[in-house]
Amino acid sequence: MHGRCFCGKIRFSTAKDPNSVVNCHCDNCKRSVGAPFVTWAVFEKESVIFNESPLIHTASNRAIRTFCATCGTSITYWHPNRKNELDITVGCLDEPEKYPPGKNIWTKKRLCWIENPDDIPDYSIYP
Ligand SMILES: [Zn+2]
Ligand SMILES: [Zn+2]
Repeated sequence: MHGRCFCGKIRFSTAKDPNSVVNCHCDNCKRSVGAPFVTWAVFEKESVIFNESPLIHTASNRAIRTFCATCGTSITYWHPNRKNELDITVGCLDEPEKYPPGKNIWTKKRLCWIENPDDIPDYSIYP
């Protein structure tokens, strides 16, 4: 798998497939990405190689999100409670159609005008 931000400054790759792909409807994802929900591909952290380190934002809940300093693309999410995993925005992957979501999380925060696009399970909070 290869991927990059919008402008191409940040590039990354891994030889592994994602462990899972999830739609996250939490409020923090909405704000930080500026989208109604975010689809994350969850990779083994150590398997992902970056050409350079993106900008880092650490939230009060210790979640670390990264961004391209040039174009602002939201690239990754990492939390110490899942320290061996790195979530990558599926829209940054070169072949996002290969990675459909397998579940919805934080659906208690799902916007009323978002319909579940597929018959995939909902989890009210983080499962
Ligand atoms: Zn960029
Ligand atoms: Zn989220």
